[in-house]
Amino acid sequence: MQRGYGFPTRFYAERGFKITSPFGLRPDPFNSGQTDFHTGIDYGGRPQGFLVQTTVGGTVFAAKMYGGWGNLAGVTDARGYNHLFAHLQTILVRPGQTVAKGDAVGTLGSTGKVTGPHLHYQINRPGTGVSGSGYFGDPDRYYFEEEVVTVERAIVLGSDVDYYNAAPLRDRLNCPLFFRSALGQLAKVSTIYVCGGPIESVREAAPNAKLINLSGSNRFETAAKISSHLASI
Ligand SMILES: [Zn+2]
Repeated sequence: MQRGYGFPTRFYAERGFKITSPFGLRPDPFNSGQTDFHTGIDYGGRPQGFLVQTTVGGTVFAAKMYGGWGNLAGVTDARGYNHLFAHLQTILVRPGQTVAKGDAVGTLGSTGKVTGPHLHYQINRPGTGVSGSGYFGDPDRYYFEEEVVTVERAIVLGSDVDYYNAAPLRDRLNCPLFFRSALGQLAKVSTIYVCGGPIESVREAAPNAKLINLSGSNRFETAAKISSHLASI
């Protein structure tokens, strides 16, 4: 399945934002002639003070100034991924607060290491907090809740340690990864690759799905099963 712009870019475009700097390698805005790896997407085109809304519902886990991020609001979604909204002028949420998709988490600003007002939006993997190197990948490649219910294939992990083992399978199948905390979202998925942890709880969450069991008794055995499955498809 080919995907164009993902949900975040469509979400912010509907609110008048446009991409000012994409995810991935780019010319370094602070050192001319050098390149820099951009771990999120920058959205601009709206004035300082414009409301910044969250792309996901969840729980606020970060709401303060973090060095180069400037004023940062962070929301953990149901799958455990951390959505970061950086360089805000003001933060409008508190840690522990529950937010719904579309709630304002702050206002557009130019705090931290920036060349002008914009929103830096980044998705971090579960367990990585606000770490810059914890990025999931291109936010436009993340599957959001409304897309997840319609996907045909999904991968379920046993725990964080299975993430790197399963990433090549995710890239090959182009399908979302789920942590155990989000089994409730799998009810309509047709085929589920279980890459770590027991299969029984997955069966309970998705009784009609075809399950492909790639779980070993430890993460090394799981890694081996995933690579031999990759070789067979
Ligand atoms: Zn950025």
